[in-house]
Amino acid sequence: RRAAVRAAAAEAAHTRDGVRIEAFANLGSVADAQAAVAAGAEGCGLLRTEFLFLDRATPPDADEQAALYRAVADTLDGRPVIVRLLDIGGDKPAPWLPLPAEENPALGVRGIRVGLRHRDVLDTQLRAILSAGAACRIMLPMVASVAELTEVRGAVERLRADMGVAHAVQVGVMVETPAAAITADLLARHADFLSIGTNDLTQYTLAMDRGNDGVAGGVDGLHPAVLRLIGETCRGAARHARWTGVCGGLASDPLAVPILIGLGVTELSATPALVPEVKAAIRAATLADCRDLAARAVAADSAGAVRDLARAFAREMV
Ligand code: PEP
Ligand code: MG
Repeated sequence: RRAAVRAAAAEAAHTRDGVRIEAFANLGSVADAQAAVAAGAEGCGLLRTEFLFLDRATPPDADEQAALYRAVADTLDGRPVIVRLLDIGGDKPAPWLPLPAEENPALGVRGIRVGLRHRDVLDTQLRAILSAGAACRIMLPMVASVAELTEVRGAVERLRADMGVAHAVQVGVMVETPAAAITADLLARHADFLSIGTNDLTQYTLAMDRGNDGVAGGVDGLHPAVLRLIGETCRGAARHARWTGVCGGLASDPLAVPILIGLGVTELSATPALVPEVKAAIRAATLADCRDLAARAVAADSAGAVRDLARAFAREMV
């Protein structure tokens, strides 16, 4: 079976009845990009840019950033690269940007809120992405309001004109807050795509700190509350003919894959090494089977009950 999974890894993945689901990879470096291509990834669904910004006294300038984004894009050889705007603050401090201490950093100035308060940092990164080539797309982390998206979109268009960039640039949002999931239809009016960050969406939906060992057992993205928000996100995006992906940890969980597809997700961005397993899970069932499983999952009592359903489903599909 392992050999079959590997052999099929290079090909695009469809459900058993022929619905195309994109298998992308989450990347943090050029080495990750090489691993992703070898594993059969069709693009990068989340380039974590934080690593370029942390552990240093001054932030990288636009040229340094662009060189890295271009190197990742070159390695992916024309496949799309979704570059996430700097996601610091909260649990990810950067020494060159002293942010005030906060009593509740997970609910404070983090993600896109940092960029909107430090426009020089945001503009420098946008310039770098715009100059890194037509494969690069832009994605905003930790969005809670439409205005955050329209502000960044405005900045992108201003810089594009300013720099004479000819190619159109897609701008999408991460759905990591319950607010973004519930108002996905409003966001989708202004976004080219939505990508669900299930790690944060789970912690904010369940009000459980993803890094707190005391509640670690409960932080499961297969909780029916999280699944209902994922379904709501897909419905909102579809109203404006936008696609919804998942770039959080749930996309790397083969048990979750048929549920996500059944809820309406059409792009899964996983850890590079798990892309072949994700493709195998996509190919295992029909869309109708996935929808039936998803309907039972959102009606289940607990994440544990959803996992039982998903395990039984995986056994039936072999
Ligand atoms: C997420 O929250 O699911 C996500 C992909 O972002 P990060 O894990 O980097 O917060
Ligand atoms: Mg996140």
